[in-house]
Amino acid sequence: MMVKVVKRISLTVLFSAIMVFSLISNTIKVGAQGIFIWPAEGQITSGFRTVDRPDHHGIDIAKSGDVPVVAAASGTVSKSYYSDSYGNVIFIRHTINGTQYETVYAHLRSRAVSTGQTVSQGQFIGYMGNTGDSSGQHLHFEIHKPYWTSDKRYAVDPLQYLNSLGSPANNPYDGTFGTLKVNYPAGYGVNVYNAPNGSYKGKVYGGESYKVYAYQDGWYDIGNSTWIKAEHVIFKRYIAYINYPSGYGVNVYNAPNGSYKGKVYGGESYKVYAEKDGWYDLGNSTWVKGEHVIIIK
Ligand SMILES: [Zn+2]
Repeated sequence: MMVKVVKRISLTVLFSAIMVFSLISNTIKVGAQGIFIWPAEGQITSGFRTVDRPDHHGIDIAKSGDVPVVAAASGTVSKSYYSDSYGNVIFIRHTINGTQYETVYAHLRSRAVSTGQTVSQGQFIGYMGNTGDSSGQHLHFEIHKPYWTSDKRYAVDPLQYLNSLGSPANNPYDGTFGTLKVNYPAGYGVNVYNAPNGSYKGKVYGGESYKVYAYQDGWYDIGNSTWIKAEHVIFKRYIAYINYPSGYGVNVYNAPNGSYKGKVYGGESYKVYAEKDGWYDLGNSTWVKGEHVIIIK
């Protein structure tokens, strides 16, 4: 029992040290951040070269269901094949501001691009899967600078290169918490109103996508008090990733700047139900300050 307590205290000290270090390193490395977009939605279940897994040269992003994986930046597919360890894997080479990188997307269920193909940032390249040396569906994602080698000596921590990490400057507040798509064929018009059940304001059209600023009684506000009925759209919520090492607690409140309600922990992911003044509601009026999370869109 005593051993456990001591272990917990030393872990807390370790996490605090990591926190301070990562805050400092984020500040230093801010120039490198934001050049890659997140290749998939999900929860980070394993970090880069952690104490437990020093030979883990990437990060694991896990989510169930049909999870699209996209190219983190534009480039050329250098390999697309099946390997016993990586499973279905895609390698993409990038040249960004004169610097070369190679990204790796492993354990895919399927591959949608082939070797030699040019891809653009955000392009669908396959579905997250559980192929190769993998237990449970996840994306194993690596970034190498300048390129992949079998000993992984050029691997860098993806979290230092992905958008929005830790730096509020890269995670701008825009008052949205999701996106929607008008769920009709192109050209088909849907009425929008100045309030839920309010006055007619105009039309939006099938296939169009909008950011969502508010939700009320089955209606979404797509900006400037332009409300559309939920039955006409497909809505996609943002995910808030608690941007700290696992075990590190962040206070949550019953309202923006409200009463203390409890804690959420580093590495956890939550659906976002609302946004207000730079705070996000994780559901049931559980509000977290925007500076503590990465919003995965
Ligand atoms: Zn992994």
